Amino acid sequence: MADQAFVTLATNDSYAKGAMVLGQSLKNHKTSRKLVVMIGPHVSDPSRAVLRRIYDEVRLVDVLDSGDSAHLAMMKRPDLGITFTKLHCWKLTHYSKCVFMDADTLVVSNVDELFDREELSAAPDPGWPDCFNSGVFVFRPSKETHGKLLQFCTEHGSFDGGDQGVLNAYFGDWATTDISKHLPFIYNLSSVALYTYAPAFKQFGSKAKVVHFLGPTKPWSYTFDPRAQRVKGDVEAAASHPSFLLEWWILFASSVVPMMRQEYGDMAFHSGCEEEEILLAAPQPTLSSLERKNNWEQGQADYMGMDSFDNIQKKLDSFLK
Ligand code: UDP
Ligand code: MN
Repeated sequence: MADQAFVTLATNDSYAKGAMVLGQSLKNHKTSRKLVVMIGPHVSDPSRAVLRRIYDEVRLVDVLDSGDSAHLAMMKRPDLGITFTKLHCWKLTHYSKCVFMDADTLVVSNVDELFDREELSAAPDPGWPDCFNSGVFVFRPSKETHGKLLQFCTEHGSFDGGDQGVLNAYFGDWATTDISKHLPFIYNLSSVALYTYAPAFKQFGSKAKVVHFLGPTKPWSYTFDPRAQRVKGDVEAAASHPSFLLEWWILFASSVVPMMRQEYGDMAFHSGCEEEEILLAAPQPTLSSLERKNNWEQGQADYMGMDSFDNIQKKLDSFLK
């Protein structure tokens, strides 16, 4: 399966954090496919180093520095900057089939079966279900398609100002032609939808495979208290399902922050984790379950060991079931 890949995009260090968590979540759920992250020139060196530890391929894309057709398209439509960058994924022609995932998505179960689908497969958008949401989609890299997409963008623009509008207009028969291209909603469970149709979430939410933290408030906009194991900020109002947001943070704090700490060294970085010393603490001798319970109740979770991401994930899974 070396010619198939999951692909994401991060143009800055904030979205890079999302990409780190997404990549790590794909690995934790044992994907057999390659992992590719496209980055913009503003991603810092230490963030690139962390991404290299998680991803098989870290690919610098920069529409502004190149003299190619993307650059020309970009000059005519400067409003569509990030969109043009996302469309670069069609240029990954050393892969035969790919699944694009936004950097603000989190995989909560293996989703390799997505590669059984064809271009362009995607899940309905919760806001307008005759459109697909462009946070998760199956595509076939092709220079020809890339060129056509750029041309389409330049001529028609985007009805929503972003990639979702362009892709929905270009793949305009998605809603009506081939039902196998409709991914089930559990492959792109948008957090905003959860409260608008709560009974359905109650029924189907535990089957989620990909959670999408769509909208202005991203997981990395919050802070996290590792001691209390709590996400801080206006969690309810931001309409991200609290247990998925917590899952994102546990993965970030337990797996990604240690890598960032190594790669950033003495350089400052914003982890969003309060009381980081808890993560820095030296490995503790094995505790009895009673001692562990006491520690836990005093807010001293053993983050790197018994209370690590994997174990908490199992708890979350059983809770959701
Ligand atoms: N993105 C990025 N930098 C930005 C904005 C967006 O790299 O400044 C990428 C990133 O992969 C992100 C995707 O484009 O997940 C789509 O944007 P976003 O997820 O913010 O849109 P939403 O899903 O909230 O509509
Ligand atoms: Mn998104």
